[in-house]
Amino acid sequence: MGYRTMATDDARKRNWIGWVFFADLLNGLALTLSYLFSKTVTMRYPDKEKWTPYPRFRGHHFLLTDQAGKIKCVACELCARICPCSCITVVPHEDQNGERHPKVFEVDTARCLFCGLCEDACPVEAIALGQLYEFSAYSSGDLRVGRDELLSKPGKTRQGGNVIAARLNTDEGVRVEPKEEDEDGHDWWTRLRRK
Ligand code: SF4
Ligand code: SF4
Repeated sequence: MGYRTMATDDARKRNWIGWVFFADLLNGLALTLSYLFSKTVTMRYPDKEKWTPYPRFRGHHFLLTDQAGKIKCVACELCARICPCSCITVVPHEDQNGERHPKVFEVDTARCLFCGLCEDACPVEAIALGQLYEFSAYSSGDLRVGRDELLSKPGKTRQGGNVIAARLNTDEGVRVEPKEEDEDGHDWWTRLRRK
C-alpha cells in the first residue's frame, strides 16, 4: 500500500514538473521536427511501385480446382447463406454421375464487405479471398463476377508485405505490372524512422 502511495506521489511530481516546463509540448515538437528530417514514406504508386499485401489479406475472391482440374465447389450454398450482405448467388447443378457443381456462381464484389466468412464456412475449401486489390469498374453491374472469372483469378502467394518496383501499363485497360527484376521488393517498414 505504502509503495503504491509513493509511486503515485512520484507520478504527480513528474506531471507537475512537466506542466511547468511544457515537457509534453516540447516532446511533441521534437517528434514533429525529427519527422521533417526522416526518410519519406510516400509510395510512388502506380507509376513506379506497388504494395503487395500479406497472404492474410482479404482481397478479390477466387474459386479453386482439385488436382484433376475440376472445380472444388459442391454448390452446397453455405457461403451464400452465411454472407452478411447476400452478395453470393449459387445455382446448383447435378451431373450424370450425381456430382453437384455450381451452374451459376456469382459474387457481387460491389456489395461485398470482404469479411472472409464465405471462406471460413466452405466445407471443401473451394472459395478463398486472395491478395488482388486492384479491380474497379465504371458500373456496379460490372463488379458482379461469375464462376469462370472467379476460377481464373490469382490465388494466394506465400510472400507479401513488401513494396515492389512496378510500372503503369495503359495499353490494354489500366494495369500496374510488377517489374520482374524486383520480385522480392523491399520491406515497407524499413522506410519508417524507428526510435
Ligand atoms: S467476404 Fe463476406 S461479404 Fe464478401 S462474399 Fe464473402 S461472406 Fe459475403
Ligand atoms: S464455395 Fe464452398 S460453401 Fe460455397 S457453395 Fe461452393 S462448396 Fe459450398
